[in-house]
Amino acid sequence: MNPSPTVIDLLIEARWVVPVEPHAVVLDDHAVAIHEGNIVAIVPISEARTLYTPRERVELAEHALIPGLINAHTHNPMTLMRGLADDLPLMTWLQQHIWPAEGRVMGPEFIRDGVELAVAEMIRGGTTCANENYFFPDVIASTYQSMGFRAVVGLPVIEFPSPWAKTRDEYFARAEQVHHDLKGDSLITTSFVPHAPYTVSDESFERIREQSAQWDIPVHLHTHETAQEVEESIRDHGMRPLERLQRLGIINERLIAVHMTQLTDGEIAMCAAAGVSVVHCPESNLKLASGFCPAEKLRAAGVNVAIGTDGCASNNDLDMFGEMRTAALLAKAVASDAAAFDAAFALRAATLNGAMAMGLGDRVGSIEVGKRADLAAIRLDDLETQPLYHVASQLVYSTGRHQVSDVWIDGKRKLAGNVLVDVDVDGIRAKARRWRDIIAAGDVQ
Ligand SMILES: [Zn+2]
Repeated sequence: MNPSPTVIDLLIEARWVVPVEPHAVVLDDHAVAIHEGNIVAIVPISEARTLYTPRERVELAEHALIPGLINAHTHNPMTLMRGLADDLPLMTWLQQHIWPAEGRVMGPEFIRDGVELAVAEMIRGGTTCANENYFFPDVIASTYQSMGFRAVVGLPVIEFPSPWAKTRDEYFARAEQVHHDLKGDSLITTSFVPHAPYTVSDESFERIREQSAQWDIPVHLHTHETAQEVEESIRDHGMRPLERLQRLGIINERLIAVHMTQLTDGEIAMCAAAGVSVVHCPESNLKLASGFCPAEKLRAAGVNVAIGTDGCASNNDLDMFGEMRTAALLAKAVASDAAAFDAAFALRAATLNGAMAMGLGDRVGSIEVGKRADLAAIRLDDLETQPLYHVASQLVYSTGRHQVSDVWIDGKRKLAGNVLVDVDVDGIRAKARRWRDIIAAGDVQ
């Protein structure tokens, strides 16, 4: 006699399930069973129908179900600066446009409105988790919490006063308060975000090393972004940034090194041996002409490579489908190898590798029993993705983010049939337009 079916919250039946782990596997006609936000089974649809009585059943007959995409480097409040100053080199862009604009508007209201806009865009594009790097992490965290979005919120450290903190001691005191306040939160964790080696002192890095080890949180840092950064480090410190960071004890498994366009083979080997994660932000690097991250060399050396969009001021979107494709294409060109950074790896870099870098590898990033249900469904019957031979190739090389139809975070529906759930789209648009007028009025063209 068959045991009676188990009652569960949600059963998602999909034409294809791409779990990411195991690697490069596509499951035909499978269902993902979810209860209390946890993935409890991944089985053929026919089997699921005898095993479970779901409170809600979602049938996705033409869709691929993938782990929600993980944006491993972004500055989401800056979404309100999308397109403010384009076609400029990094330092001109920063010093003449972005920093002055930030000086005029940065505060809790700007931060909250920017993150709301970003969350709406990310959910529509199948992204369910962000590695956040900006000031006012308390406001950022509460905005993510109110929208039910998963994030690692950065605790900033920089040697300049800002509206967030004035002195080094104040940056660390506020970091401790925010970290303490977020302890035990189901969606939000923390990291340290020292801005970059050229804006953070040895003394601050030493405090970050101690504190990040004590709290066991990542250190999320822009580094080796441009040749100029490396040259100036040699001039000011007598060594390249990675060597300085290594002497300061920052090169370890907690480090999330972002950009990394200037690397020697020795530096790649050092990062691999130390367990460093690298976030490849190809579109930001291309747009600011910063250089090319040797993503395939890093992958081949065993470095955990994730993908990030960077902020909207330098991309100009939070489109992880676009970023995956650019990452794969650029990695091939840089490696002079068409087999480099293949589609299955690009999908892994945009999901599980991001989760691992951010200390969330046991919670999200793949469709596995025991993980939280952060999922995205993508319609593949659009003419633009027909005919279909290989699901992973289609997802990376020909799918647009408009094909994302449904999204769940922590088992909760966030996008249903292309429509955002419980998001005030008109209100977000009105706020974006208001900030546009304020920021444009002060920008020097
Ligand atoms: Zn950045």
